[in-house]
Amino acid sequence: MWSAVAQQAGDAADMARFIAALPKAEYHVHLEGTLEADMKFALAKRNGLDLPFADVAAMKASYIYHDLPSFLAIYYDGMKVLRTEQDFHDLAYAYLAKAASQNILYAEMFFDPQEHLKRGVPMAAVIGGITSARVAAAAQLGIGSQLILCFVRDLSAESAMAALEAALPFREHLVAVGLDSDEKDHPPIKFAAHFAKARAAGLKVTAHCDLNQKDILEHIRQAIVDIRVDRIDHGGNILESPELMAMAKARNLYFTVCPSFSGTVRGDKPPIDVVRGMLDAGLNVTINSDDPAYMGSEYLNEVLVKAQARSALTKAELVQLQRNAFNAGWMSETQRAACHAKLDAFARAQGVAG
Ligand SMILES: [Zn+2]
Repeated sequence: MWSAVAQQAGDAADMARFIAALPKAEYHVHLEGTLEADMKFALAKRNGLDLPFADVAAMKASYIYHDLPSFLAIYYDGMKVLRTEQDFHDLAYAYLAKAASQNILYAEMFFDPQEHLKRGVPMAAVIGGITSARVAAAAQLGIGSQLILCFVRDLSAESAMAALEAALPFREHLVAVGLDSDEKDHPPIKFAAHFAKARAAGLKVTAHCDLNQKDILEHIRQAIVDIRVDRIDHGGNILESPELMAMAKARNLYFTVCPSFSGTVRGDKPPIDVVRGMLDAGLNVTINSDDPAYMGSEYLNEVLVKAQARSALTKAELVQLQRNAFNAGWMSETQRAACHAKLDAFARAQGVAG
């Protein structure tokens, strides 16, 4: 019995080492969701702002949520300390440094400019700060990255259009537009004109289809059929619709799944584990961290360790998930080939086919 327990612990440590060394990519991470409590205090001090918490521990203790709206209330309140170009630089650089330390070779990061424009922060400061951090991280840490502008779907369509128009002069620093925040009664089709305008400017298109939301299958259908997205963020409820799964496969769509927030489809049938279900269904699934600062500071390695245990992922499946991730990226073909070469070399060295 004791040796069985010791063996299990040894296996877990071996798997954690494998995950840490695995070359990775990340596509579903909100920069504002990487704003750690200690950085909030530092930025508040720099900007002369008061925070209603005594210290980091008290702030973290307030991170209690039971659904998407209760999470978003804390998330939007937290980002108020971001005021200057330097703040956005520091935020993005901190994430990229963390990502590079976890062997993430390439990341595409979301940001929510409407929330910053509302506070009077100019688009130039937001995109300028993030871009200078991306450039510095590429040079100093060797991590590639790109930026995805998200429309905040529970704000007005006019507000989203104003943000898009303010961002288009910085088009060269963006790779895509996305759609996030509170999904209830805010379907993808509300932003059809925005997506069309972004696509006309040469940007890719992605959209959150958050797990277990009202009308979620209709939202996934709109994303695939009406908006013709290039990728889907979350999207696990597609497992409830063979018709939508067939469409996603025909389009070779990739899904950015974040199992730490919610990893289970809850329909009227028995619950389905999203990662296991999507892998077994032959969908192009990738695993991502979403808002790590608000999820126990669990970044991609920690998320993968938990996902491996929860979804009983083999080493070959972990390699396959990263192969999917390198295929899903909107990077140059040269970058993609370099990422695949590192993954192939890793898999060979570990004796894992995949
Ligand atoms: Zn998200």
